[in-house]
Amino acid sequence: MFCVECGKDGPIFRDGVCISCYLKTHTFTKGPDIIDLPVCSHCGSYKYKSTWTSDLFGDVIRRLIKHSFQISRELNKVDINTECNETKEGMFCKVYISGFIDDVEITEEHDLSVRLKRTVCDVCSKQFGGYHEAIVQIRTDRTKLTKKETNDFTIFVENIVEESQSKGNRGLFITDVGKGHGGLDFFISEKGPALVIAKKIQERYGGKIKQSSKNIGMKDGRQIYRMTYLIRLPSYKKGDFLRNNNMFLHIVSIHGNTVKMIDLSNWDESTVDIRTIQKAKILGNEELIEEMILVSQTADEIQIMDPKTYGIKVIKKPKPIEFKKEKVKILKTEKQIFLIPNKN
Ligand SMILES: [Zn+2]
Ligand SMILES: [Zn+2]
Repeated sequence: MFCVECGKDGPIFRDGVCISCYLKTHTFTKGPDIIDLPVCSHCGSYKYKSTWTSDLFGDVIRRLIKHSFQISRELNKVDINTECNETKEGMFCKVYISGFIDDVEITEEHDLSVRLKRTVCDVCSKQFGGYHEAIVQIRTDRTKLTKKETNDFTIFVENIVEESQSKGNRGLFITDVGKGHGGLDFFISEKGPALVIAKKIQERYGGKIKQSSKNIGMKDGRQIYRMTYLIRLPSYKKGDFLRNNNMFLHIVSIHGNTVKMIDLSNWDESTVDIRTIQKAKILGNEELIEEMILVSQTADEIQIMDPKTYGIKVIKKPKPIEFKKEKVKILKTEKQIFLIPNKN
C-alpha cells in the first residue's frame, strides 16, 4: 500500500498514511501554559486539589500535569518528566511527556510556568492558633523534674511526633510545651496520638496515666472535648540509689508501683511496693557510680585501687563470688564503699 502523504510503499498506519506521516501531522498532548500551585510559606507543603501534602515538588507537579494536561488515549505507557528552575517569578518547567504509538516512542515537550501561591496550610494555621485536642502532662511525686529529665522527655515526645509525621500524619504536631508546676505539659494537636505518647512514656518511665476530659464547646453540632493525659511518674526511677533507714538500695526496675531493688550490703534482690520505701532518701542515680581497678581478691574480700589517686582499699565482698573483670563499680557513701553488681 502507498501512503497518501509521502507516497512510500509500506504499511499504512491510519487514515491512509504511514506511521511517520501520522506522527508528523498529529500531537498527542496538550496542556495549559500556567498552573497555580498553593504552597505553605511556613512548612513548604503543597496543595493538590483540595488536600495539603508534604510530598516533594516534583511528585506534586507530575500529579498536577497528569490531571490538567490532555493526553491522547492513543499514547501508551505514558511517562511524565519535568525539569524545573526556580526564578523570582515562580517555577519554570520543561514538561516531557513520552509514550508509545504502536511501537514508536515519541516525546512531546511543553513549557509550563508554575505560579507558587504563598499561603498558610491547614496544619500551620491550626498550629499558630494554638489548636490542641489533648494535653500530655508529666508530673512527678516528689521532686521537680530535673533539667536533664525535662530535655529527655522533650526529645522523647518530639521523636514520636516526628516519626508519625514522617509516616504521613501531617495533622500531628506539638502546639506548645509548658514548663511549670515542676512538670511538663505537651499540647498535642490530636487525641489519639497524644494517648499513644502518654503510653510510650509510661512504658519507658513507669508511673500511672490518669485521663480527664473537658468540654470546650460545640463544633458542627457536636460537643468537643479536650483530653488531658496525666502521667504521674514514680518517686524513684531505675538506677536510683536510696538510703532507707540504715539500708542502701539500688533500684533495678520499676513497673507501676512495683519496685525491684537490691540491698547493696549483701546484693539480695527484693521486689516491694513503692509505698514501703516512700520515705527513703534519694542519693542520686548512675552519676554516683565510680570505677575502680581490681587489684586482688580473696574468698570474702576484694582489694581495689582508685585510678585517680592510686589509693588502695580493701572491701568485704557482699557475697562469696569471684570478680572476673579488671574493673569494679562502686558507690561511696559517707562511711562506706559498696560494690555494685554489673548489669547484664
Ligand atoms: Zn507517509
Ligand atoms: Zn504549613
